[in-house]
Amino acid sequence: MPVNSNDQAPGKPLLSLVVPFYNESSAIGPFFQRIGPILAALDRFDCEIVCVNDGSADDTLAQLIATASQDRRLRVIDLSRNFGKEAALTAGLNEARGDAVIPIDADLQDPPELIPRLIAEWQNGYEVVLAKRVNRDSDSYMKRNSASLFYRLYNAVSDIKLPENVGDFRLIDRQVLESLKQLPENRRFMKGLFAWVGYRTTTVEYVREARSAGESKFSGWRLWNFALEGITSFSTVPLRWWTYCGFAISLLAFIYGLVIICKTLIYGIDMPGYASLLTVVLFLGGIQLIGIGVLGEYMGRTYLESKGRPIYLVRRRYQKTED
Ligand code: UDP
Ligand code: MG
Repeated sequence: MPVNSNDQAPGKPLLSLVVPFYNESSAIGPFFQRIGPILAALDRFDCEIVCVNDGSADDTLAQLIATASQDRRLRVIDLSRNFGKEAALTAGLNEARGDAVIPIDADLQDPPELIPRLIAEWQNGYEVVLAKRVNRDSDSYMKRNSASLFYRLYNAVSDIKLPENVGDFRLIDRQVLESLKQLPENRRFMKGLFAWVGYRTTTVEYVREARSAGESKFSGWRLWNFALEGITSFSTVPLRWWTYCGFAISLLAFIYGLVIICKTLIYGIDMPGYASLLTVVLFLGGIQLIGIGVLGEYMGRTYLESKGRPIYLVRRRYQKTED
């Protein structure tokens, strides 16, 4: 087992679950019901559940506080507004004190029954234990296909490969968490950051379930932005593409120029060409605008990072102290 690097009392190692909640009013009950017996069975560990309320507009916070007042293992971190899942997860990870930390979704799509298997692999000496979904039948056709396209594209352009069909649900050792904390970036694509830090990694497989209650917070548009975020934060290949694209178009233009010169020399001067001229001008205009767009995308991100704003703000923390 990894050495206990925490200063807490010797004895049982501490396991932290990190759970982001955003408008999960209807999912909270089922979540704690299902997680309860699983944690109870892990009697060789102390457990804490770090619940991050990511600016929910419903009664999620009230329910979390009520649950925490019954159970001292719960810690509730209330963020000042909705910062998005990646920031909420970062908040939870920063607050977690465990020797092993498991981020898990509130909607039970990450089955808590897997936790003992994750821990078993951790005890075998792995510092990162990934939970890989073997089928995504619970996701829509569109989401499955766009996800697989994203992974293919991402892995083609990024040096750090993302394991396919692995979400944030995983176990990480304390040391991995400390490494994650050293990554200062503001805009956090957690999957990429997790992959970037490396460490000895293994995988366990599971079947992804449907959401227990409520609905997904990731619409098509949000997923698209998420994908852009992922690619632009871990690869500058799209910037380089434009250099090659420029070379390719210049070459084509040169060849086309030669063709026109030869035609003029052979067949004499001939003026039609309005259609081809307009097509080329519009085509190049479009290509240039896309190029500027890609540049702008990276520049925008550099701008946002350069402000050095905090990733999230905590309004208050709640935990039951006395018995
Ligand atoms: N979530 C969050 N902030 C957000 C969106 C989502 O903390 O802005 C949480 C949400 O409460 C859930 C987890 O992130 O615990 C995963 O969200 P969801 O189930 O909607 O994503 P999906 O499973 O559809 O990818
Ligand atoms: Mg979900």
